[in-house]
Amino acid sequence: MSVLVLVEHTNGAFRKKSLEAVQYAANIAKQMGTTATAVATGNIDNATLATLGQYGAQKVLHTTDSRLENFNSRAYTKVMLAAAQKENAKVIIGLHDTVGKAVSPRIAARLNAGLVSGAVSYPDLSKGFVVKKNVFSGKAFAYVNITSDVKVITLMPNTFPVVKGDGSATVENLDVAFEDRDFSIKVKEVTKTSGTIVLSEAELVVSGGRGMKGPENWHVLEDLAKELGAATACSRPVADSHWRPHNEHVGQTGGTIRPNLYIAVGISGAIQHLAGVNGSKTIVVINKDAEAPFFKAADYGVLGDAMEIVPQLTAAVKRFKANH
Ligand SMILES: Cc1cc2nc3c(=O)[nH]c(=O)nc-3n(C[C@H](O)[C@H](O)[C@H](O)COP(=O)(O)OP(=O)(O)OC[C@H]3O[C@@H](n4cnc5c(N)ncnc54)[C@H](O)[C@@H]3O)c2cc1C
Repeated sequence: MSVLVLVEHTNGAFRKKSLEAVQYAANIAKQMGTTATAVATGNIDNATLATLGQYGAQKVLHTTDSRLENFNSRAYTKVMLAAAQKENAKVIIGLHDTVGKAVSPRIAARLNAGLVSGAVSYPDLSKGFVVKKNVFSGKAFAYVNITSDVKVITLMPNTFPVVKGDGSATVENLDVAFEDRDFSIKVKEVTKTSGTIVLSEAELVVSGGRGMKGPENWHVLEDLAKELGAATACSRPVADSHWRPHNEHVGQTGGTIRPNLYIAVGISGAIQHLAGVNGSKTIVVINKDAEAPFFKAADYGVLGDAMEIVPQLTAAVKRFKANH
């Protein structure tokens, strides 16, 4: 019996959120008196796979097939089911991201397992298998007891700090008998996002809404983001109007982020927007309307015109950096 965790990598390197998932699985395994096994697919070398031992995995199962280079929910599910059978897994962890949200319910359905999606805590084993999750767009928590034999969880990224330890995982090949129909969905094109800071993993985020008036004003936010070393994000209407790319859209229908600092500029703070950002540790709101709902969710609020305030903030950050 083991705790299984699906890991994702980009061009052979693990993303922080996958290391967090491995650490999460390892911690659950420890509580249950068992071990954690990671499952990886595609082109990644054994030395890199073995580094998952530093985050608590004892073993890594690796499936290579050139058709797995792009994400495919059906094929990935098959890999996880094969791994679950091999390891007699009772707990299966994925991330609450595009891959995990697509694969985990399929695994749960196939294994007749209870599923908690978007967990923000370790399971409390003293009360059964109780996991805390966000509900109502992050307005409340639910505590869910999974009573099925096999349990599936998707972990909300950026819930726990990632701590690197010692150790090396053993790496084994996992052969999966794929059929052509597992690849009936084909990826025709992959468009890579630009920018060096990945939004989903950024510690600092500068975000703009319709109050920025148009894409021609975004340089004001980009200047601040550059000085801070922050990623940029936006509200949905901004992405819908093609002022910014869709991968920057955060909220109920966009990405969920939990940075240390979220600076919201010219964003009203609709509940659908807050759903994607209210896990941020500190929220700063800049808005010219004192009645903007976002002020209620803010740790710090600045009342005024974004086009005046943001350049002053950027200049202040520059001065601070020059003097420290
Ligand atoms: C099913 C559903 C899902 C949705 N999903 C999402 C989602 O995932 N993400 C999301 O963001 N929205 C989502 N929405 C839309 C959401 O309800 C809001 O309409 C949207 O968030 C508003 O975007 P905004 O705050 O940028 O624009 P607005 O609501 O137009 O607000 C603009 C703000 O800018 C301020 N402002 C104007 N000029 C200035 C200035 N010069 N300086 C400073 N402040 C200024 C205004 O006071 C105002 O508060 C969803 C809606 C639905 C129905």
